[in-house]
Amino acid sequence: MSADLSQYSAGVRAWVEKGRALVAQREEELQRLRACRFDTLSVHGLYTMREAIANNQGSIIEPAYLATSEHYADADAMEAALAYLIPTWCYARIANPTTYYLEWMLALLEGYGTGLETSAVVTASGMAAIMTAVDPFAVKRSKDPAERMNFVSSCHVYGGTFQQFSIRRHQDRGHEVRWVSDVMNIDAWAARIDADTRFVYVELPSNPTISFTDLAALADLAHAHGIPLIVDATVATPALLRPLAHGADIVVHSVSKTMTSSGMGVGGVLVARKNIVTNIDNPEMKADFASWVKFLPYRDNGPSMNPLHAVMVLNDLRTLRSKMDLVSRNSQTVAEYLAAHPKIEQVDYLGLPDNPKHAVAKRYLKLVDSELDNGGVPVNRYGHLMSFRVKGGGEAARRVFDGFQMIWRATDLGRIKSVATIPAISTHQQQGEAARSMADVAPNLIRLCVGGEHPNDVIADLERGLKRV
Ligand SMILES: *Cc1c(COP(=O)(O)O)cnc(C)c1O
Repeated sequence: MSADLSQYSAGVRAWVEKGRALVAQREEELQRLRACRFDTLSVHGLYTMREAIANNQGSIIEPAYLATSEHYADADAMEAALAYLIPTWCYARIANPTTYYLEWMLALLEGYGTGLETSAVVTASGMAAIMTAVDPFAVKRSKDPAERMNFVSSCHVYGGTFQQFSIRRHQDRGHEVRWVSDVMNIDAWAARIDADTRFVYVELPSNPTISFTDLAALADLAHAHGIPLIVDATVATPALLRPLAHGADIVVHSVSKTMTSSGMGVGGVLVARKNIVTNIDNPEMKADFASWVKFLPYRDNGPSMNPLHAVMVLNDLRTLRSKMDLVSRNSQTVAEYLAAHPKIEQVDYLGLPDNPKHAVAKRYLKLVDSELDNGGVPVNRYGHLMSFRVKGGGEAARRVFDGFQMIWRATDLGRIKSVATIPAISTHQQQGEAARSMADVAPNLIRLCVGGEHPNDVIADLERGLKRV
């Protein structure tokens, strides 16, 4: 951060000089990395040979730093560090070397091919990432005690997000949420934005109804009102969609899902472009949102990620692109089987050509770098989340569900193992009947996330369930 150094001693200023050299070195490495392909970035991130030799005893894998705090060479170094004048990690709630490697990995992956500079902050969970992303916009802009504020969100969001927005934010704190259900219709969004709107929020594709919309048009709309677009792209991962490339200002993810497909823990991330659009008068926040969040509100609120978990995530991310390719292809096969099945009422999967959102999703969901082995033409991949409705209502859906012998019954998704749930009785239970029907979460809807098994075996298990009705 920039600061007036004249108030500091010569000793502190000497540390600042050293710190500047380190930052310059990192910038140089980032420049080199920006020329690398997605697979290369997901394997290495910012953990370079120089980083291994200089700071990590040559370890070829990012070490898990479990220490709570950092020792300083002298008082001047400590003063410089705690004033954020030099790169440092101080205390593990504020920063940590292992989570730092993960943050840069995710910043690089989300920024890939966008030409943008990005920064990231990892959190204890996806819900913490959403709270951390959204909170800075819910601040007072005036001294008027009656000041109003609202935000506009798709109602097709993860059940936890729905609760966070409608109960914790709207009901408990008076930060009004204005839901949009017809998310394809940009005018429906426009109609809800006014001078008190602080941001626009969308989940793409959404969980569990797999909704989608014209991302670039939505970003343009938000920017025309001087407010940012925040996108939850958990279901797509940066291997299929990088929303910043299409104008989004901030991206959030539940890292617990597809990014950590082994299913070994909960985490989240917020990635932002530099110079976000906002109507909050805070130049530092606007210039580098993720870093500002990390330095200040994140430090004060404490939603940090455990470094041991960061290593698990790094480990899973290394094969992200090829994994998304595999599970997307498997899902396409399974979705086609379900769509042709006489006992199925409806299948929602963006890869099915008759899905009403297929055309718009096709413009956005592309396997990163796939054009390199396909004569310059990118290949569409639609991820591994789908939902289907069983004929005969909620009871029939439960019978099918209970017949699975390989597809796990769990409120989970994004795994390398196929997992299914009935959202109406699980993830979307708390929000109640009216909210479920607004978001089209029917009692006979089964959400299925297809893993890396052979698709014929997944189909055989679905068939086992469907034979029971
Ligand atoms: C699971 C999920 C979240 C919440 O993430 P946690 O890591 O479980 O807190 C947010 N958004 C989407 C789309 C999700 O699937």
